[in-house]
Amino acid sequence: MCLWEPRHERDCGGGWCENEGIAASHQVPKGAPVMIAQPLTGFDRTPEHAFVHINRERCAGCQECIIRCPTGALTLDSENWIAQANDNLCVGCRQCERVCPFTAVAVTGPVVVAARQEPAPLHFDSILGETGEVRQGFSDWPHALLEADRCLNCPDPTCMEGCPAHNDIPGFISAIRERNLEKSHEILQETSILPDVCSRVCDQSVQCEGACSWALAGERPVSIGLLERFVADNRTVPAVKRAWKDGHGLSVAVVGSGPAGCAAAWELLQAGATVRMLEKDAVPGGVLQWGIPSFTLPDAPMRRPIEALLNAGLRLQTSCSVGRDISLDALLADNDAVILAHGASQPIVPPIPGRELDGVEDAREFLERGKQALRDGRSLPEVGAGAHVLVLGGGNTAMDVARTVRRFGGEVTTVEWMDERFARVRPDELEEARGEGVTIRFTTTVERLAGIDGLVCSALLRRTRQDRVDRLPKVLGGVPERVIVSRVIFALGYRVDSELAVDFVNLPLPRIDQSRTIPDRRWTASGIPSKSPAQVGSQALRREVGLAVAASPTRGGWWVRFRSGSTKPNSFFRTTWWQTLWRRQAAGGLAAAPTSYDDRVWVAGDALVGPSTVVGSMAQGREAARAVLKMRPTREPIPFGPSARRAN
Ligand code: SF4
Ligand code: SF4
Ligand code: SF4
Repeated sequence: MCLWEPRHERDCGGGWCENEGIAASHQVPKGAPVMIAQPLTGFDRTPEHAFVHINRERCAGCQECIIRCPTGALTLDSENWIAQANDNLCVGCRQCERVCPFTAVAVTGPVVVAARQEPAPLHFDSILGETGEVRQGFSDWPHALLEADRCLNCPDPTCMEGCPAHNDIPGFISAIRERNLEKSHEILQETSILPDVCSRVCDQSVQCEGACSWALAGERPVSIGLLERFVADNRTVPAVKRAWKDGHGLSVAVVGSGPAGCAAAWELLQAGATVRMLEKDAVPGGVLQWGIPSFTLPDAPMRRPIEALLNAGLRLQTSCSVGRDISLDALLADNDAVILAHGASQPIVPPIPGRELDGVEDAREFLERGKQALRDGRSLPEVGAGAHVLVLGGGNTAMDVARTVRRFGGEVTTVEWMDERFARVRPDELEEARGEGVTIRFTTTVERLAGIDGLVCSALLRRTRQDRVDRLPKVLGGVPERVIVSRVIFALGYRVDSELAVDFVNLPLPRIDQSRTIPDRRWTASGIPSKSPAQVGSQALRREVGLAVAASPTRGGWWVRFRSGSTKPNSFFRTTWWQTLWRRQAAGGLAAAPTSYDDRVWVAGDALVGPSTVVGSMAQGREAARAVLKMRPTREPIPFGPSARRAN
């Protein structure tokens, strides 16, 4: 089998090996499918170019660089069997340099790429009561086309590795270049049912854009998120297509209506299955509904997936909690399979003295209340003018909370014990929060909260120091600082509802306390804790592997061989937690975890891997549904379950 099995027809010149040189070099049987680099046509080359130096002594003619060069600047000198470069075509993307297994390529000179197109940020006269979307998208074709033109249509698109759903990014961007939004949407829909949501809430800087070739070459990446949003905003996301295929006759219960649950239901309905969805809250949507403010995710894209599913025949039951209102055994008696996609919505509350005082609440409680009040045009006096709100945490949830408080008029300070350089927060979110008047204090932690008559009134803060990303911050000594507060909100993230996961399906839960491990933000944006004994899905793992590879300082090209299965991680990776993930990946894990109920109960999304990304959960929900469709479990007497376990 060929080393370069095409991921997409686009990658391959006809789908069959036409280059005997490559075939010989990779010992590919003649005629086996192989990926041939398609030189980019119509690329706007400038007189400026970079310089490619091929070390003739080191080059083995393996053509790893040639098949990746997006501009056709590299070819094979078949007489000497080494790579040769046409500098005039080189844009300096450094992909060749990065992948050469023999470090025979060096690129010097400029990175030749046009300036990144970005819409001007929206400025409100006053953000009081404002629910309008802060981040703007491309409003016209010229800007979208200029940005689409920055994409190199890379033959080996690292951006796809960075996207947890593995969207065909060069494919959908090429369709934009052809001004064909219909086609662009179709390409996106192969892997994503939530392009309008993901393009707004994904942290692209550590996902697709963080892995874009331009970013890896030190330039500003293609605005993939904005282009995806341009497609989603200008062409309605297609409805669920009922195909009545492999799911016909199958009845599946999906627990949870967040991204993973919706994606699972979408996949099952498309296949013709009957789907019943249970949501413990009164309003469906999961984290999209309660956890993301309207100024980041407006109501229309947030509600669209559920509306589309209802139109396709979904049976939705709200205010119904598994364990409280219905048992898992009852669900199994009525359905062939159950997919648990109940998310991770339990707030993390550290044991800080004073947390039991009045005026102290958690982020979920506040975000839900705040979102509804803003929607209704009501005020919240406790966080209104004159209030001094302290938010614990410096991640995206903390920023959402703080920015919501600002919309009610209160003064707000967030404290985060990590250094700003290592904090797990979207850079644009941080900038926007500061612009809206939020005071953000990194390397600061809360020692205790104090109150008068049971009501919180002050907090003792201490400074911390963190020098390295893989080291916990140190709390510094000295006299603590006292600050006056009228309200405290814990926004330190969420964890899996352990009651459901452990008591009902005996899940190997991810570590709940992530505060003891601080791996590189770039590797953990999916929320997978390091050194975890958890069983995690291969979709999520692939994402980690992709980013680890993309971020790897190793230029030896070992990862090329790793992907072909002919090598093991190098010493850099052998010494890291990543090895554990690699082993599981190599063993070919499943994208969603089956449970002790055999193939009848599946777990996907945040419920499996802990707090993660919307797009990662969506991808896992789809995989769980595909696993159910493949296995086609049937209703039979339950071999073992909670009641059986209790009996034992
Ligand atoms: S730097 Fe990029 S464009 Fe230039 S030869 Fe290498 S892969 Fe091709
Ligand atoms: S789904 Fe998210 S990570 Fe994937 S391409 Fe879209 S914005 Fe990027
Ligand atoms: S988005 Fe970046 S990595 Fe992806 S194909 Fe375009 S230039 Fe290459």
